[in-house]
Parts: sequence; C-alpha cells; structure tokens
Amino acid sequence: MRIYNTLSHKVEEFIPNVPGKVSMYTCGPTVYHFAHIGNLRSYIMEDVLEKYLRFTGLDVKRVMNITDVGHLTSDGDTGEDKMLKGAKREHKSVMDIAKFYTDAFFEDCKKLGIKTPDVVEPATGCIDEFIRVISSLLEKGYAYEAGGNIYFDTSKLKEYYVFHNFNEEDLEDGVREGVEKDENKKNKADFVLWFTKSKFDDQELKWDSPWGVGYPGWHIECSCISMKHLGERLDIHCGGIDNAFPHHTNEIAQSEAFLGHKWCNYWFHILHLNTNDGKMSKSKGEFLTVSLLEEKGYPAVVYRFFCLLSHYRKSLVFSWENLDNAKTAYNKIIQKVAALLKEQGGEVDKDSYDRLMKGFTDAMDNDLNTSNAITALYDVLKADTGAATKLKLIREFDKVLTLELIENAQKAQKEESAELPAEIEELVSKRAQARKEKNFALADELRDKITALGYKIEETRQGTKVTKL
Ligand code: AMP
Ligand code: ZN
Repeated sequence: MRIYNTLSHKVEEFIPNVPGKVSMYTCGPTVYHFAHIGNLRSYIMEDVLEKYLRFTGLDVKRVMNITDVGHLTSDGDTGEDKMLKGAKREHKSVMDIAKFYTDAFFEDCKKLGIKTPDVVEPATGCIDEFIRVISSLLEKGYAYEAGGNIYFDTSKLKEYYVFHNFNEEDLEDGVREGVEKDENKKNKADFVLWFTKSKFDDQELKWDSPWGVGYPGWHIECSCISMKHLGERLDIHCGGIDNAFPHHTNEIAQSEAFLGHKWCNYWFHILHLNTNDGKMSKSKGEFLTVSLLEEKGYPAVVYRFFCLLSHYRKSLVFSWENLDNAKTAYNKIIQKVAALLKEQGGEVDKDSYDRLMKGFTDAMDNDLNTSNAITALYDVLKADTGAATKLKLIREFDKVLTLELIENAQKAQKEESAELPAEIEELVSKRAQARKEKNFALADELRDKITALGYKIEETRQGTKVTKL
C-alpha cells in the first residue's frame, strides 16, 4: 500500500517496522463536548485506514488516548482549559463531563461503524508515565523549570519544525499558539510539559509531582500513551491536519529527545470538513453532530458514505444539499444490493471476482482513495457477472467501507416483503426457483396465479418487483 506521509511530503510505500505487524496511534477526542461531524470525519478516515491495513493481512494494534486533562483552547499553552470550560458550562465536575462525553463519543463512533481501537487510554490514568518521561527529559537537558512550570527546550533540537513546507491551509488553527506571551519560555516555540503555576487557580484535577502539585500539558500525553502501549518505534500516527502543528510537532520533539532515536515513520493527516462559511465549530453557528443529522433524517451511515466519497487529503465542504445527494446515492446502492440478494445462488466467477477486486485494492492502495473505491463498488453493481460474485465482493469491500450494505439491503427487502401476504410471497419465491431452473412454463403459470390474486410481478434492473394491482 502507498500512503502520503506528512513527514516526507510524499506518497510512499507503507513498510511497517516489524513485517506483518502495524503499530498505529490516533489522537483521541478532548471530551469536553460532543464531537462535531468534522472531528468524526477524521475518525471515519482513520477507521478506514485501520480496516484496510487489516484487509491486506497486517496485524494492527491501534491505540487511542482520551484527552481529559491539559488541552487548552489554543492547542498551545494559552487560552482556557477545555475540560474546565466544559465543566463550568454544565455546572458539573470535570470527571463527570469526561465520562459523559467519552460515552457520547463512542456512541457516535458505533453509529458510524467506527471500530473501537484495541487500547483506549484516558490521560488521567497515566500521570506516573508523564512524570517519568518529563523527569528524564529534565535529566537529559531537554527540559527546564521556569516560573514553576516545566518547559521543553526546542533550541536543544537539530530540527524542531519537522513538518515544514506547510501550505497555509495545512497550518490552520495551530498557528494561534503564542498569542499570549509567556515570559517563562526561553524560546518562542517551547511548550509546557507540566503546569504548576497556572492562571487556572480553580483547576480541578491536580497531581503531586517532583515539581509541585499540578497537571500535564496536552502534548506529553500522546507521546507517553503511545510509547506505553506501542513501544519505542511507532509505524503510523494519525490525526486531523490541525494537529500537525503544534501538537504532533511537539510529540515528535519530546518523544525523540526521550528515546534518542527516530520515533514514528508515517504521519497520516486528514484535511478538515468545513462549512460554506468556514471552519466547523462547537460554539458558533449550527453545532453539527451525528444526532442532529439523524434528527433531520440522515442516518449516520449516510454521513460515513458522504465522507468516503472524498479523498481524505482534500478539504471537504459540508452542506445539506451535498448530504442529500449522498443519501439518494446510498439508497440507490442499497436497492441494487437488495435486488442481488433476491437473485442469490449461482457460483462465484473467479476471473470477474479477481478483476473487480483489483479495482478496489488498486484504489485503496493508492493513498487510500476511498472515492475510487466507491467507483469500484459501482463497477461491481453494474458488472456483467452473477449475483454470487457480486455479493461476495460487496461483503469483502464492506469489511473496510462499513457501509452496512448487506444489512441495510436485507432490511429494505424485509420492509418491502412485509407488505406482501404470505401466499403471494410463496408464489413469488416458487417462481424465482422455477426461473432459476429454467422451467419457464411453470414460472409463467405462477405469474398468472399471482396476477389473478391481484398482484403485478415485473422484472426490473433492480430485480423482481411485486406490487398490488
Ligand atoms: P479534538 O477533540 O479537538 O482534540 O479533535 C479531535 C480530532 O478531530 C483531531 O484529530 C482533530 O485534528 C480533528 N478535527 C478537528 N476539527 C476538524 C474538522 N473540521 N475536520 C476534520 N477533523 C477535525
Ligand atoms: Zn495527540
């Protein structure tokens, strides 16, 4: 498989450190509010990546953190603490907020067909790890204490801005860091590893540390949680593009300073979902959540389909009209799959199977081109081959796409047939059997019976359709 690596700015062959195994880390949600559908675009595309790696036979171990402490509104060291902001907004404790929104996040993921990572670790469960790594960074001279906080000293690195050559768009909101000047910092790019003296006197969650009672910075949590579960060499690290700077840049700085060697080989970044008037937000305008889409008549799977229609490295504009088009297209696919289910039976044609499967794997091998993978799905639906071959391919594709194609086609079929009396159902299925056995005389006889009972039976491109006359 070939994949774009933000570190090299190239599409590269994906070669894991240990043949056959992949260590994959994903920046998890900051659980101070519901995830918006922009956040969820990132998690959907990461889910597709994980599933495709597995599909190619690789044994993936995926780890995700839950940010329940340390993330400030600026992504850097300025602004408000997001968790505290959420707690104040809802007059609850930080831990209550974290629990509620963690559950809500996984509920959304479930609806969207996103597999839960093998390991999910909240930051507040790893304080000892953070202290251990920060102590080592201090010992090695990569960190310093100033004004009560512990900072990472970026001037000690040969190269700090590892993701250089960014487009303006790529940098997005990361560049907001440094808006408020922190006089303690030796260099502008230095960042906090551990806060003790903070402007948040009312910070709820605090822990003892060798440097005083305080709490960790946001960046250190991902480095530590990743190293704890995936070891010293990480294959692939994922996140939305806004995470590349400063978050991932800081993760690389501290992890490699701590380890003394290269840490992660591939960086996978998803471009943003935007609205017509700009960036998606949890505070301004319409707060777009999975529940809101459902309320408006768009099942979560339609949103997943909408995301898969675009490449992850292109910004995507959300509009109700675009979502509506995706819904119509999705429903048509489901009708076609339902028709195939009616035709069941027959043998799989190996040549057609291999040819059509290649269309799918070529698309996915080419930097996870899900949009072309959907084209490969359309190619299957219109191919000149039997239902057995098509259904087998659809089942395989859906291991990665997770569009619930078979399940929803079965549901559609049930809804359709629920309206038919049992007697008609039986005649219809006997007729299908007769046609399969090429006993056309019997098939015609059964058709006449069905018509006599007041039902019309016709063959459409989507399969057999029975309606009341
Ligand atoms: P957060 O909960 O703010 O830490 O963000 C969770 C994930 O969503 C991160 O990987 C972000 O980079 C990503 N993200 C944030 N906004 C968007 C957006 N508009 N489109 C796609 N991904 C986003
Ligand atoms: Zn992270």
